[in-house]
Formats: sequence, C-alpha cells, structure tokens
Amino acid sequence: MESGAIVRRFRKQFPDEASCLERFTAIRFRNGRYCPYCGSLNTYEFEKLHRFRCGRCKRDFSVLSNTVFEGAHLDLRQYFLILSLLTEAKQEIPLRTIVELSGCSEKSARRAIRLFKTSLEGADADASKVGTKRGRAEHGKAANRS
Ligand SMILES: [Zn+2]
Repeated sequence: MESGAIVRRFRKQFPDEASCLERFTAIRFRNGRYCPYCGSLNTYEFEKLHRFRCGRCKRDFSVLSNTVFEGAHLDLRQYFLILSLLTEAKQEIPLRTIVELSGCSEKSARRAIRLFKTSLEGADADASKVGTKRGRAEHGKAANRS
C-alpha cells in the first residue's frame, strides 16, 4: 500500500488519541486488567481518567505504565501511525515522509522507528515477514543466478 492510502485508512480507524488508547487498552488488558507492578488482577479505575489503582500494592498506573510508551515524547497516535507506515508499506518509506505524515520531529521519528524495528525483530507476530526475507536471501544464494 502506498503511504497516502495507509494514512487515510489509519485516520479513519484511529480518528483521535482516545481511540488509540482504547485499542491499546484492549490489547494490553485482553485477558483482564492487571497491575503492571505486582501482577494483581485486583485493580480499579480511578475517577475515569484512564488511571487505575492496584488493590494489592496500592500503586497507581495507566495502560501505558511499564511499556515502551510510558513517558514517551510522542502521542500514542503518532506511534501507531509510524508503526502502520513501517508495517503496511510495500516499499520502505523514507524518513522524511514519515516525519511529514506523522507530524513529529525527525529525532522522535528515528527513535520510534528504531524502537519498532528492534521489537518487531523479536516478535512472533512478524516472524513470517522475517522468515520470508531470510528465505529469499538464502534462496538467492542457492539459486546462483540461474
Ligand atoms: Zn500492584
């Protein structure tokens, strides 16, 4: 998919920061909300501010606590968009374009890209993609340009 189409689809799917938080919450707490510090399932929402409190260790947390997004310089939505651009584009999108489309600084974009590339390399979700790349490289060698 070309970058314009990715951005259009993304904006439809995630119109604002709240929709991104909602999705992230659904993924992170898919098996029930838990305390990221002690693992307790005994937690409760704290005045509906997307803040929670653990009933066991009494610490407050958000859905972003103890994740790479905690204390991030970018909105979750900017990260989501960059991730979409990295994973859905057929060809690698130039950094300049990612900066323009996401509206973040070059430094932040570089940091986000590095973060995703590092985590995707180790993620099962991306195993097929990595496998294909490796397979192709090996195939290329074995084929010996025939
Ligand atoms: Zn706890």
